[in-house]
Amino acid sequence: MLTRIRLSDHAQAFLLGFIFFLAAAASVSFARFDGGVAYVWGAAGLLLARLVTLPPRRWGPSLLWCGVACVLEIVTVGIGWRSVPFLTPVLLLEPVLAALLLRRVLGREFDINTVRGMVWFIALAGIVAPAVSGLFAGAVVAVFVRAPFWSNFLHWVAAHGLGAVMITPVAAILFTRTTSLRSLRWCRADWLANAALLLTVGVTALIVFYQKTAPILFLPLLPMVLATVRGGRFAAIASMVIVGVSGAVLTAYGRGPINLVPGSPGEKALLLQGYIACAGLLVLPVASLLTQLRIVADRWRESEARYRTIADALGDAIIDVAADGTVRYASSAIADMTGLPSDAVVGSHASGFVFEDDLAVVAVAYRQALQAPGKPVIVQYRGPREEPDGRRWFEASLRAVTAQGESLGIVGSIRDVSERKRLELSLTREARLDPLTGLANRRAFLEQLEQRCDATQAAWSSARAGSLAILDLDHFKRINDGYGHAVGDIVLQAVASEAMRFCRSRDLVARIGGEEFCVIFGGASMADAEAAADRLREAIRALRIPLDGGQSISVTASIGLAEIVPGGTALSILKRADTALYEAKRHGRNRLRIAA
Ligand code: GH3
Ligand code: MG
Ligand code: MG
Repeated sequence: MLTRIRLSDHAQAFLLGFIFFLAAAASVSFARFDGGVAYVWGAAGLLLARLVTLPPRRWGPSLLWCGVACVLEIVTVGIGWRSVPFLTPVLLLEPVLAALLLRRVLGREFDINTVRGMVWFIALAGIVAPAVSGLFAGAVVAVFVRAPFWSNFLHWVAAHGLGAVMITPVAAILFTRTTSLRSLRWCRADWLANAALLLTVGVTALIVFYQKTAPILFLPLLPMVLATVRGGRFAAIASMVIVGVSGAVLTAYGRGPINLVPGSPGEKALLLQGYIACAGLLVLPVASLLTQLRIVADRWRESEARYRTIADALGDAIIDVAADGTVRYASSAIADMTGLPSDAVVGSHASGFVFEDDLAVVAVAYRQALQAPGKPVIVQYRGPREEPDGRRWFEASLRAVTAQGESLGIVGSIRDVSERKRLELSLTREARLDPLTGLANRRAFLEQLEQRCDATQAAWSSARAGSLAILDLDHFKRINDGYGHAVGDIVLQAVASEAMRFCRSRDLVARIGGEEFCVIFGGASMADAEAAADRLREAIRALRIPLDGGQSISVTASIGLAEIVPGGTALSILKRADTALYEAKRHGRNRLRIAA
């Protein structure tokens, strides 16, 4: 490949000068149809391509050898040695001016793969530089060969402008070291398809430029565009070369649609170049846009891959759910939460990953999120699977994503909050339990009592709330004093478990103070409650609480009983039961009294 041959700047410049000479000599020999300037000029495009791919400090050798080529061309086939001092600078000025202007506008990189780059390239290399050099050249040629200035000027601008637009992009690719066919990254199928399309371009061009009956110049454009769409810039340039060469050769032999047009050979040459340049201007921007599109697509893929990697690295699962609830994306952490790989989660309905009882609350959160796009909505729910240590708890932060006012669904991050939830639940449980006996504490008891009082107000005629017993151990201080506080605790625990034995499912036993207990006999009639309370008192009296060393200890309790009457408050009922308890104490302890 050209790109891998490493020649010194001078050797490369010499080679360039040689090709420059051949191109210039051929133009002057074969395309100087009316004794004025040549109607075809690709040499400047070659030099321009070299200049735009090199920094200006390395332009010297190329300008030197192309200058030599100019001199040789002018002397051998051109308009004579006397015009050398005038025409050589003009011929070199044109690509130098174009290259300097392009550098100024587009920066150091010669990049015409953007619409902006393409437009500037056509304007500066195709129009401005040839027009400036054409002013001088028109004058020089007018003086030395006595041809009219304006026709020389116009033919020069047309030939040089079209030549530069046709040649420079192709030559620049060949001159750029980094460009190789390998950098096209085509696979076998790409090569086959592109070769077939370029072959179609060639066959079409041969047919169109060989036949001489129909003006079907538009026909090669179709395979050119197809080849460009499939093969990008390389195919665009290759098809330009194919159409250009077959068009030029066959037209020169008097064949093809160009020769259907009346006009001088020079005009026909310009018409052909105009055609090729137009075809180029048609396919090269398409190629540029495709290149940009590919770059954008590559960047998009790269950034998507990056975000997926980040999402997968998170402990939280990231999900994307469509408005109808279908999961569109799930990061890999979802596997740990659902037991399914993320691929299997994608496509299923999000509700499948929520415990039935929590579906309603999740659905509400989902709708809330959809209604307020951009605002996160937090929801806690349980997983669908019953696991050995209970259902897992999840917390999802849901946020609706919209584009141009239209909802695109929900993006959510889900985390496993089972541990936190367990702690929370145990904390609330602990806040309600008496640590010594494991019974409900005063707070839990009062809550329960209040609830039951409220229930009597709601439906007092049909349901009976029950009764409340307050139980206080008799002379408990003596036990503490006689046996020690630890033994006192054992007695409290024994009494608590005895009371629990008496408990039915609707009852509640609580320790509301030091050696004071409460029992709510839920739904019981006063007579039943009285009998039950007295049985409890008797059971406590009968307790023999064993101590270390074979001793045992017994205890009695006094009980005050009050009915949970409709309209009463927890405190008023408690007060009545307490008064009854006081009566029981006053009447000798180890007895039951009923509130008046
Ligand atoms: P009374 O028959 O009049 O009720 O006599 P009493 O000795 O039981 O009198 P009072 O109710 O005033 O005394 C309660 C005692 O219970 C006082 C306190 O030392 C003891 N006590 C309170 N809480 C605990 C506890 O958690 N453990 C132990 N061991 N003793 C406690
Ligand atoms: Mg007491
Ligand atoms: Mg007491």
